[in-house]
Amino acid sequence: CTSGQQIQLLPKSQFHNSFHLCGNTQRHEFQAETKNLMDIVAKSLYSNSEVFVRELISNASDALEKRRFVELSGNAVEGPSEIRITTDKARRIITFEDSGIGMDRDDLISCLGTIAKSGSKEFIEKHKDNAEAVIGQFGVGFYSAFMVADSVTVETRKIGTDSNQGLKWHWNGENSYEISEVDGLSTGTKITLHLKAGDAAEYGDEAKIKDVINKYSYFVSQPILINGERI
Ligand code: ADP
Ligand code: MG
Repeated sequence: CTSGQQIQLLPKSQFHNSFHLCGNTQRHEFQAETKNLMDIVAKSLYSNSEVFVRELISNASDALEKRRFVELSGNAVEGPSEIRITTDKARRIITFEDSGIGMDRDDLISCLGTIAKSGSKEFIEKHKDNAEAVIGQFGVGFYSAFMVADSVTVETRKIGTDSNQGLKWHWNGENSYEISEVDGLSTGTKITLHLKAGDAAEYGDEAKIKDVINKYSYFVSQPILINGERI
């Protein structure tokens, strides 16, 4: 996702509605087309919900790769280049954390609230029987988290921004999400999923997540830690 570019693909009125809530919180509506796509993703991945693990790891890995370029160009970066996952079965929580490039407000709105590539919806509709294989290629991987979670929180700070410029993006199952400012985050991104009750709750189990990672994430070049232990 390249922030700013896809905004121009859509007429302004179709982009997103946003309005201020109290304090520094701003609420944004998902585009109608994004909602539609989220439903398609959820339906077509229903029997394959574990792919969300692969998609969030692959996003963390991409973010670390982007950080590497920043580092190569001489800029300072924080923290080790690794992907950290935690699970808490009792509270039905799984988190994915990276010290990668991070996101600013424009990135959050255009990358997480907007369909990244035109034609994604048509493509996925056409391939919905095989959605698991194509989902990662069409800028919708992040939405696979919505299948298993009743709320998703993204805490993030972009490399090169001040420590008071962190942001919290929050979705709790509705057609909108909220963005607020957070002080004191380190650069990178942490994604917290509160898992739905029922089948999805098994993703709060460390052994289950290890199985899924071993099945899918062999292609990831950075180290992956689960509850502090290297896989
Ligand atoms: P894709 O990875 O194919 O672009 P996704 O839906 O998986 O589509 O992610 C959308 C975009 O959100 C990414 O391109 C990236 O810009 C942003 N993003 C998602 N997760 C992260 C992360 N952990 N760190 C930084 N940016 C991220
Ligand atoms: Mg992705």
